[in-house]
Amino acid sequence: MRLENWADTDPATPPSGVCATFTHDHRPYRLTLDERHHAASARMDPAVADLPVLFLDADGPLIPFAAKPHRRPEGFTTHRLLTPRWTRAEQERLSRTGRPHARVKPLRVWADPTLGPRLPLGHYQAVWATTWREEANEYLADLFGLPRLPSATLPEHADTRDRLHRPGRTKPHWKLPYLLDYAQGRPFAWVDDEANDADAAYLERIGYPAPTLLLTADPRTGITARDLDALARFAHACPRGDVHLWRISAPWPDPPARS
Ligand SMILES: [Mg+2]
Repeated sequence: MRLENWADTDPATPPSGVCATFTHDHRPYRLTLDERHHAASARMDPAVADLPVLFLDADGPLIPFAAKPHRRPEGFTTHRLLTPRWTRAEQERLSRTGRPHARVKPLRVWADPTLGPRLPLGHYQAVWATTWREEANEYLADLFGLPRLPSATLPEHADTRDRLHRPGRTKPHWKLPYLLDYAQGRPFAWVDDEANDADAAYLERIGYPAPTLLLTADPRTGITARDLDALARFAHACPRGDVHLWRISAPWPDPPARS
């Protein structure tokens, strides 16, 4: 599966195999099923080519940012992080609100260090799919007992300009095209507090050619035993090819807005 900017190609002679077109961030894209491209993909490490991908969001699935602010969830530890991205965002916010010289307070993060060992990482190629981007390995991996992971490419401009992930959205999440590009037609599980029915409908509509699990995590609790069980069962079902699309929804209508 290939993701390309439609504007980069000649629209008068589209190649065969185009299975979907869509507009993202005011630019037209198309997804193409192309086995030759799949086989030749330079990014595909042979060691992981047969594994399903596990796309991990951080805010929500790992960090229970919507938990009651004064009640740390059981088993979690408290950390205060001053990451470059958080510092930049806070400095911009303070400038906007007329306090450009105010001290930036660290971001409080609750982390469960037992989560990593409980994830079925041996059955997946685990990949960050978070706006923490390269900071996820440096600041989060150790706190959650996770190894260093590769990152799906999520352009910096996308999450700031695109508001399609707001509650109630009916179009695919802004991350989804980039995850499909990374997965290259492989089975994948996507754990994100913002995954919703629009994403499942989109995967059905384009006829994604491999089993998928969309797991909407609860940002009040982070990944739960139910979610771990679903990930383990999905990993075992994938090799038999008898799964098309699993949609594990959250028991709430829509999570609070935060990427
Ligand atoms: Mg999130």
